Parts: sequence; C-alpha cells; structure tokens
Amino acid sequence: MWPKILTNYSPNFNAIKRSKKNIKFIIIHYTGMKYELSALKRLCNIKAKVSAHFFIKKNGSILNLVPPLYEAWHAGKSSWKGLKSLNKYSIGIEIQNSGHDNKYENFSQKQIFSTKKLLKYLINEYRVKSKNVLGHSDIAPDRKKDPGEKFPWKELAKSRLSQWHNLSENKLKQKRLISLNYIEESNFMTNLSKIGYFKISQQNNNVKKRNIIKAFQRHFRQNLINGISDQECLMISKDLLKS
Ligand SMILES: [Zn+2]
Repeated sequence: MWPKILTNYSPNFNAIKRSKKNIKFIIIHYTGMKYELSALKRLCNIKAKVSAHFFIKKNGSILNLVPPLYEAWHAGKSSWKGLKSLNKYSIGIEIQNSGHDNKYENFSQKQIFSTKKLLKYLINEYRVKSKNVLGHSDIAPDRKKDPGEKFPWKELAKSRLSQWHNLSENKLKQKRLISLNYIEESNFMTNLSKIGYFKISQQNNNVKKRNIIKAFQRHFRQNLINGISDQECLMISKDLLKS
C-alpha cells in the first residue's frame, strides 16, 4: 500500500527539473520548532528560502511540499562521501519535533509509521540504497543535530530502510568508554570517512572531529553522545563497513 500523501506546495525549490537518477540520498530532518503550524508556514514562506520535499505531522499525516524531481532547499552546506551540497542529490523529509533547543520529545508512533511507509515508497521509486538514508547531522555535523538520537534508525533498519550494525548490544556495552590508542583512533577516523562522514584533513582540528564523532553517535550509538571515540564506536564503525 502506498502512503496517503496530501499536497501543500512550497515555492522554495529550483525551477530546473532533475532526472530520477540524480536522486541518491534521502535526508531526514526534524523541524526544531515548537509549533507544527509555524514550522510548516516557514517551509512554505518564500522569504525563508527553506523547504523539504515532505513534511510529517505529529498525527502522522504526510504532506508533499516540493515534487521530488525538483531540488528542495533542506540540506544547506553539506557533504557525504566526498559529494558536496547534497540538495542536488537528495530528497528531504522534515518531521515535526521541537528539537534539542526545546524539549526534544520522542517522535510519535504515528510519525514513525508514516516515515517508514514514505521511505519504503521513495526507496523503491527512486532506487535509493538503504545506507543512503541519512540524518541532516550526518551530512552537516558542524551545524546540525537533527533528527537526533531519538530517531529510530535501528527500527528502520529492520525493515531495510536504513543501515545498522549486526553486533550484539550487550557485547558492545562492555566496550563503552574504553579508550582507543593512537593507531585505533586514527583507524576510527578513517572508518568514519569511508562510511561517508566529512574527511578532516588536520587530525588536530578537535572541534570538527568532536562534531563528526557526535554525529556518528547520534546515528549509530544513540545511548551515549559525548563526542569521544571509544572501543564501542570503533567496533560499530568496522561492522558498518562490512555491509
Ligand atoms: Zn535539518
């Protein structure tokens, strides 16, 4: 069953149509605004110059703001696997949630249900790889935290709608907070860039490094977001590269 999608167009998109094969990624966002209606208004306000292709309301309704074959303005300055400015290659989904600067509530069950349905449809329609379903923070770690550590990536992966590791959570927990030696640390950062995260050229750029590690944790090690690498993070990164 295809999801029921309502139309609520936004004027914020590039007028040049792209081809289906340009679409390689799906980027998940939260709105970061307290009120759903204000968030929706902003995404449709010509002055705001922001948008996304889809909007998922608290009650699970899915709105189409921009047709997928037009570039919406959701990713901003971003990078993944050496590609820059991901708007060109992606479909953006905004999910209503007040975000880290407010109370960052759990996503509603209805929102998760609709997100899964929509992803299933889009992945099939645009032949997107499940590992290319990413969070905004993955592609813009210095600026963004969304959709954050409450977004159920693991649950999505069970339906092949995103990537997850195949390691036992209990075994992983035993490795948590055990520090890495110099070589392991360097291997870990190499793994992150192989996964797709921005490759930092100077290993001593600590702010950038911390933000990238945090983004990785928000996605793949959601129980502890401290921006510090450890044996658990290293194990996860290795496992993700196997698939
Ligand atoms: Zn975002």
